[in-house]
Amino acid sequence: MNLRLDTPVQYLKGVGPKRAETFNRLGIQTVEDLLYHSPHRYLDASSVTPIAKAVVGEDATLVGRVVSQGVLPTRKRLKVFRAVIKDGSGLIECAWPGQAFLNRTIRVGQLILVSGPVKYYHGRQMNPREQVVLAESDENDEDVKGVVLPVYPATEGLSHRQIRGIIRVHLDEMLRLIDKDSESVMPKALKLLPRREAFRSLHRPMSMDEAEAARVRLAYEELLDMQLVVAKARLVAKKSPKGVKHELKKELTTQLKSALPFELTQGQRRAIKEIVGDMVSGERMNRLLMGDVGSGKTVVALFAMLLAVENDSQAVFMAPTELLAEQHARTFNELLAPLGIMPELLLGRASAKEKSEIRSRIQSGASRVIVGTHALVQEATEFYRLGLVVIDEQHRFGVEHRASLVEKGDGPDVLLLSATPIPRTLALTAYGDLDISALKEKPAGRRDVRTTVRSTKSRGKIYSFLEDQCAAGRQAYVVYPIIEESEKVDFRAATTMADRLREALPQLSVGLVHGRLKTEERDEVMRKFRDGSVNILVATTVIEVGIDVANATVMVIEHPERFGLAQLHQLRGRVGRGAEESYCILLSDGQAKARLQEFAKTNDGFRIAELDLQERGMGQLAGARQSGGVELKFADLGRDIELISYARKVASDMIESDPGLQSQGHMSIRKRIERRYDRGITLFGIG
Ligand code: ADP
Ligand code: MG
Repeated sequence: MNLRLDTPVQYLKGVGPKRAETFNRLGIQTVEDLLYHSPHRYLDASSVTPIAKAVVGEDATLVGRVVSQGVLPTRKRLKVFRAVIKDGSGLIECAWPGQAFLNRTIRVGQLILVSGPVKYYHGRQMNPREQVVLAESDENDEDVKGVVLPVYPATEGLSHRQIRGIIRVHLDEMLRLIDKDSESVMPKALKLLPRREAFRSLHRPMSMDEAEAARVRLAYEELLDMQLVVAKARLVAKKSPKGVKHELKKELTTQLKSALPFELTQGQRRAIKEIVGDMVSGERMNRLLMGDVGSGKTVVALFAMLLAVENDSQAVFMAPTELLAEQHARTFNELLAPLGIMPELLLGRASAKEKSEIRSRIQSGASRVIVGTHALVQEATEFYRLGLVVIDEQHRFGVEHRASLVEKGDGPDVLLLSATPIPRTLALTAYGDLDISALKEKPAGRRDVRTTVRSTKSRGKIYSFLEDQCAAGRQAYVVYPIIEESEKVDFRAATTMADRLREALPQLSVGLVHGRLKTEERDEVMRKFRDGSVNILVATTVIEVGIDVANATVMVIEHPERFGLAQLHQLRGRVGRGAEESYCILLSDGQAKARLQEFAKTNDGFRIAELDLQERGMGQLAGARQSGGVELKFADLGRDIELISYARKVASDMIESDPGLQSQGHMSIRKRIERRYDRGITLFGIG
């Protein structure tokens, strides 16, 4: 078969339709996506010490086969997991105090890499700070010696080792597809690697330096793409047809204000003012409203929607899942009932007949406030007069979805909602052509979620706490992380966890959701939880962002050390949504307690975004990935300042001299932007 960059990964040897689906979950559809699937770290197995040469008192990185393993309780009742590993030169014992759970992950016969201090305890003993399973007992290990090993972001059902294997087999073939001719716009001063070389070094580096050089080359390229998109977007926006000019009539909006069961916060009032300012101006609004979960973004959006409606327009609110859309429709229903407005709800799930009825009401203008999922984007949906588009959890949508909804109107105003606060300076660089409103404070009367760090010894106490809460009519989440190194094991652990809870609390109903359930099955369990017939929801990290079960008051997180702080904060945001006191319990044995304590101390999403930023570096921020519709995988907005300023300069020169990127030297870049960034087509595709 002739491989092309746009060949679906399914057709690669060793992938097939089933595994392709799992790849899709990682956002990998095509061969090109696979090339761009960047390792999130590397293991420097090139500097491995032969086991016999590991010296007491020094740090070492060792690779060996596990010859025995087990958990031994010590006199102090601390459980220590131990494993003896062996290479050609000798044996060493490794010990992990307090990490008995590794018993499920590390097994006899596996090839593992360990890294940490070598101590003296009845002989040499290593206390690994890090360990990675390199190969199972039945896998050969020729690829892991003397090289820098890429570790890829993985997902349930597809381990980083499987990904590495597939990329390794196909790399040379894929490298041949890479075009080379965008080199002319690479500033000489940056001494960047040639493109093809960069992709090789990304996936198969000979040293850590080479891996970094690859990152820098690809970071420059994506920053250039981002700056090209932003520069072009600004140009287009300036020339775009006039937006809808709304008038502040203070009819419906005033009625809503007096019908609200609460006072707006200062932040909400400010955001509404900013939005109204945009909407009454002749220019199109393109605004991002950021605010923590529970900060009350929906009501702000509703004001904007009513402003459109009182101007004889329609306002549409698109949510990423049916569950969320239903939830919003219910909220709107309650808030708008006093105004005599019935929101319309369009879901993919509705019958064909229902859908066509809904669509004709939308087309005729009978429906004014419209809520739905991406079913709204489908061709069959036509609007009467679309004045405002609101997109909830905006990062959950592809840019093309957002764009095609917007295109259904004649220059409607656009409001994007995001629950991932990012520091303002970063937002301005990253989002470039968006205006930003932020909701920093919580609605009055909302209490902080009480957060505590507990060791697994307290598990019994925590279960009886769950029992008490449920007896008082509340509900709880128990989250179990799935990590890359051993999804199967973790998956079993989550299932076991659910069974254990069922056993311990037989009078309660325990539901389980995980990534292997079909969407309908998952929604079914979530609906039961929402309706209260499930008391405790055990979940791998698939709980929907934005799901609002006000009755849930406890969030228990197992192995919180495996989550980033921003992720923990998102999870914590699932509770504390009602009037009751809410709790977040982090169940952790010893590791990285300081950062968890720090996290426990604050409920401020913007503060946590900053902590998260320090911890992981800018490029890793979830919110920063959607940089003006361009995903940042390689660049680090904190570190790569020099690259950014080069990219910005080069991009603005390019757009000035060749706005359509149509010259010989620019064509391949334009094609790349169109291929990789959906917004590229809208911006550059027209000519
Ligand atoms: P998010 O920003 O996460 O989307 P929501 O808009 O869902 O938050 O709001 C969370 C909850 O807070 C909702 O139940 C909403 O009715 C309520 N709420 C919003 N604004 C206020 C306010 N000013 N005072 C009290 N409650 C509010
Ligand atoms: Mg929301």
